[in-house]
This record gives sequence, C-alpha cells and structure tokens, in this order.
Amino acid sequence: MPGNLTLDSLKDAAIKGEIDTVMVAGVDMQGRLIGKRFHVQNFLDTAWQETHCCNYLLATDMEMNTVQGYASTSWQAGYGDYVMKADLATLRVIPWLEGTALVLCDLLDHHSHHPVPHSPRAVLQRQVARAKAMGFEAMMATELEFYLFANSYESLRDGYQRTGQLRDLQPISAHNEDYAMFQTTKEEEVMRALRNGLYAAGIPVECSKGEADAGQEEINIRYSDALDTADNHVITKQATKEIAWSKGRSVTFMAKYDHRRAGSSSHVHQSLWTDGKPAFQDTTDPHGMSATMKHFLAGQLAHIADITAFLAPYVNSYKRFTVGMFAPTKAVWSRDNRTAGFRVCGEGTKGVRVECRIGGADLNPYMAMAALLAAGLDGIERKLPLEPEMQGDLYQSDSAPLPRTLRDAAARMHASAMLRAAFGEDVIDHYHHAALWEVAEHDRVVTDFELSRLMERV
Ligand code: ADP
Repeated sequence: MPGNLTLDSLKDAAIKGEIDTVMVAGVDMQGRLIGKRFHVQNFLDTAWQETHCCNYLLATDMEMNTVQGYASTSWQAGYGDYVMKADLATLRVIPWLEGTALVLCDLLDHHSHHPVPHSPRAVLQRQVARAKAMGFEAMMATELEFYLFANSYESLRDGYQRTGQLRDLQPISAHNEDYAMFQTTKEEEVMRALRNGLYAAGIPVECSKGEADAGQEEINIRYSDALDTADNHVITKQATKEIAWSKGRSVTFMAKYDHRRAGSSSHVHQSLWTDGKPAFQDTTDPHGMSATMKHFLAGQLAHIADITAFLAPYVNSYKRFTVGMFAPTKAVWSRDNRTAGFRVCGEGTKGVRVECRIGGADLNPYMAMAALLAAGLDGIERKLPLEPEMQGDLYQSDSAPLPRTLRDAAARMHASAMLRAAFGEDVIDHYHHAALWEVAEHDRVVTDFELSRLMERV
C-alpha cells in the first residue's frame, strides 16, 4: 500500500491546521532516511516539485565521513547537488509525530535530471523494470528483527561519553521471549504504538512478536511490490527508532549486537506474479513449484556469494552467521526448514514463495532486494536447473559455506559478471569501494575486545 495522502488532501490538512511539517527524504547507502523538514506551505508552493541535497549523501559512511575514492563525487569534484524529486505516491501522514507528513524522494542528477545510478531506490527500480519487461511483478516482504532496550538513547550516550564504552545496554526483557505473550504484553507501550502508528501511516502491518532472545522483537508488514516493500521497510525502521525514543527506550538493528545473543535478521519473502496470477505456482508439480520458481531459486543459489555483501553489508553482519542460532551458514534450499539459507514457504498454495534467510536487519532493503532479483532473474533467463532439496540439520551439510567475511563477500561482488551486467559497472565499483572502506575502518580501529584481552596480559 503506497502513501495515504494526495497533494489535495495535504492542502486540506494544512488549511485545517492538522499538518504543518513535511519530511522530504531520500535513502542513503546505509538505507537511512536523509532529507529536510519543510513547512507545509513551502512544500505545497514549491518543494513538492523538487528540492536539493549535497551529493556526498551517497558517498559517506555511517559516521558521515567524506570518504574519498568514489568516481561519482569527491572534494576534487566539489561535492555538488542532487535533485530530490518527491515520489508523490509515497506521501503519507506520520501519526506518531505531531502535525507531520512524509514523502520519499528519488535522487536525480542535478544537470540531466536522470536517476543517479547508485541511488538505492534507482537500483531497485531498474531490477523491478527488468522483471516487468520479462512479464513479472516482483512481490516481496521483509521480516524485520531488532532489539528493544530499556535505556534511552540519551542515557546510553551519556554513559558512552563518560566511559567511552556502550556497556550498559539493558534488553527490555530478562529472558528469551520467542512468541511469549506475557512478556510482550509488558512491551506494548512501544510495540502497540508502533503497529498502530505504521498502520495509520498506510503501512499494512501484519503483526509483531517476541523473538528468540531477551529484548528481541520482530515486526511483519504485508507483502507488496518490491519498491513499496523497501519503502515500508525504511519507514518502519525510522518509526521504530522514533517511537522507542519518544517512550524513553532505544532499539538496534545491528545484525549482531552481542556475540552471546541471537542475531537480528531481515528475511526476504519473494514471489513473482504475471497478470495477477502466481508465476511460482504449478499445481501439477509435487511441491507446487513452477519451472519459473525453480529457475529463480537456482539463480539465487548460484549467485549467493556474489550478492552476500548486499545482504550482509558490514563487518559485524558476518558475526550473525553462527551455527545453531537460526541464522544460516550454508546456501542451500529446503522446504520449511529453518537451517537452510533459502526456505520454500506456502507449498501447495498460490502464496508459494522463496524466503531468503541470509540477510541481517542491517541490510539496505533496496540493494538487497535488487541483488536477489538480479540473481533470480538471471536464473530464469538462463533456465538454470534447481539442485535437489537438502533436508535435516543443514548446518552440518557439506555445501559451500557463505562468504565468512565482508572482505571475501566484497571480492565476490567485485568479480561478479552477473551483478556488473545487472547493476552497471559504476554501481558495482561504487558499492565495492564502500565495502572496502568498511573493512579498512574496521582494520584500523582498536576495539574493546583487543584492549580487554591484551592490555594487561600481552
Ligand atoms: P509466518 O512465517 O510468521 O507464519 P507467513 O508465512 O504468513 O508468516 O508470512 C511471512 C511473510 O511473507 C509475511 O510478511 C507475508 O506478507 C509474506 N508473504 C505472504 N505471501 C507472500 C507472497 N506470495 N510473496 C511474498 N511474500 C509473501
């Protein structure tokens, strides 16, 4: 479901004094909302047509460092502007912020007004268009996990400033709360506000649930076309942080915030449809899977190492891939088996679909879904055969493991002819550079682990 406001209804809401602020936001390489807040009158007068932002926004790291070495922008190139072009189909009320609406933007070249090729929304739009040209609509859902902490962001920051360490994180619950109805009752101040806030913002929430460790939560949004799902995903993350913050709590979408606890994932459910009919279903097949679905899944299995950097984009992401914690370690497929990297769900129904369980909650949903689509569509184009299903405890399977580090995954991404053809040479070089920077920063910085292990005893 896209946004729930038109320009006319925004005008009415402005006249009635219900909305005074419009957040105008693009999406950066990390999948964060970046932009400006407009007075509603200025938005209605001019900014709805276009506004501008510095083009370094698609060339920074998490810390907003001006990373050099990108072909697209640099100090040398003077860090010019991008056009932020509002996608009015995404205009919506943000009920958890007083008097506020939100619109998502496409980022365009300042001079040509062409989409910026490495803009995450543009990367996904291109793969969606490719699927359309092949006769498919890509329908996807992301199941987002995160940790909810009793601490406020402010108290954590104070502690950090005092000690230089983020040590006092206190999960909202004391025990594993997987499916737990009593413990999650205690968390309703945040989670009910989140479900209802998103729903009223036009985001079709299905449910939330407790997850498999203390303080861990999951929120599910109904599947939709891939672009809409990615939009819903980034707004849901923003909402979760804002609502938790407004209640004096904090959350994290890190893939692995503590090595002793379960990681947080973002499983991606995927199906293709043609003229409103499920292109993945074949009622004559023993598992109800069409040839199209088998080729799609075969493509994803064949290219999984190439696309892993988009499912696990940080050094930390790889710490989630541990045996026996419901996060996969092997790129194999199975039906209804949570130890496999790819699980076939909805067998025998028209909702038959591929669930990719490899991505972490830290993924950028536009890049992850675009990479999954590119791999799957390549499988369809080349009619790749699907290997036999694996069964049992797949942690023990002798299939090729996933890349173990971001360094390995970045090298696979860089060498991938499939990704270079699908995303474009410049886009792959751009994201490869970003991945190498993450690795280099991690190599450079001395961590708490090293200090506590070595300081006294080395
Ligand atoms: P659970 O795994 O909790 O039982 P479901 O299997 O019902 O939940 O659905 C998991 C996710 O898959 C939901 O977000 C749902 O919207 C999504 N989903 C359902 N059908 C499809 C489909 N045909 N294509 C893509 N996603 C789907």
